[in-house]
Amino acid sequence: MKLLIPGPVTTRPEVRAAMARDFAPWDNDFRALNARVKQRLLATAHGDPSTHVALAIQGCGHFAIEAALRTFLPPGGQILVPVAGSYAERMVRLAREAGRVAIELPVPDGTHISPAAVAAALVANPGISHVGLVYSETSSGMIHDPVAIGEVVRAAGKRLILDAVSAFGALPIDVSAHPELDALVFTPNKCLEAMPGMAFAVTSIARLLQSAGNAGSWSLDLADIHAQNLRAGPGVFRFTPAAQVIASLDVALDLLDAEGGQPARLARYRANAAALHEGMEVIGLHPYLSRQAQGPIVLNVAAPNDPAWNLQAFVDGLKSRGFLISNFYNTATPSFRVGCIGAVDPDDMREFLAATDATLRDMKIRNRAPIRQAA
Ligand SMILES: *Cc1c(COP(=O)(O)O)cnc(C)c1O
Repeated sequence: MKLLIPGPVTTRPEVRAAMARDFAPWDNDFRALNARVKQRLLATAHGDPSTHVALAIQGCGHFAIEAALRTFLPPGGQILVPVAGSYAERMVRLAREAGRVAIELPVPDGTHISPAAVAAALVANPGISHVGLVYSETSSGMIHDPVAIGEVVRAAGKRLILDAVSAFGALPIDVSAHPELDALVFTPNKCLEAMPGMAFAVTSIARLLQSAGNAGSWSLDLADIHAQNLRAGPGVFRFTPAAQVIASLDVALDLLDAEGGQPARLARYRANAAALHEGMEVIGLHPYLSRQAQGPIVLNVAAPNDPAWNLQAFVDGLKSRGFLISNFYNTATPSFRVGCIGAVDPDDMREFLAATDATLRDMKIRNRAPIRQAA
């Protein structure tokens, strides 16, 4: 079975095999493994160990995003979030429920976040200390621009929290070029092609040291994790880690290196997305975004406007042909989404397109044109 969802992704057998053993998290061999994995992640982010550190936290991506918000914003602190999709909405909710003030900047559907609009919102709301940006908005498939947004954040003297969960490993990021960055957050189970269960933040050491006592949570405090690492060593956890996940990530990072690193991975994902985008048009379906706006992470395809259309039946038909896609909608008008990421290549995409065509025929879908939004 191939998972064509934007995470957790299809993994290679070597990655899964690395989990098939027991670990004592306090064992010195495991500590060395954990410290090495964090060093490799820091290097992937182009972080200089004298200014930046990679921290590991148990749980999924949301946990690390909440930890970053709690750590770098004091209670009542204000963050501007350009809302270009559901992951940005999630950051707003995480901030509010943690007692921080989230100010939403609406972004028109299908458009990129405008750096000028971010700059204007920062001028209009001088109490804002942070901007929260989703690099790859997994709901729409659009990629936003941390370089351009980071520049206006920096010019305004503000700080950046970057949700790179569906970006890191494939889309470029150089933390040393972003002095405005407090935290870059990501997980192993998307473009790094490893397992879910841990999350990571590459953070500024200076800002961590300034942020002690902000979090209002022991579990979700990056400053406390860093303080513990300084006291006990970089491989030591405060609480039981998902050790098997970390071991499998070490192997997944070997595979990333062998592939040619981030640029090569991005090239494969772009080829996957292009094969899918073109192939969907060939079989009469309509990608949600134009080819120009289409990012390399996830492709949304408009649901066909046919009375026989049923998303779950479609998903089940694909599953019987060896592919799993999401069984929920994530866009303003209904579209099914297909991940372009994971241990899959354009040949898998072509097999998937054939499976899609066959499933639609089985379902007796005659009209493959999109459902039009009511005016
Ligand atoms: C997957 C994802 C997350 C985190 O999801 P979890 O289920 O908490 O791991 C956060 N942001 C983006 C953009 C994502 O794609």
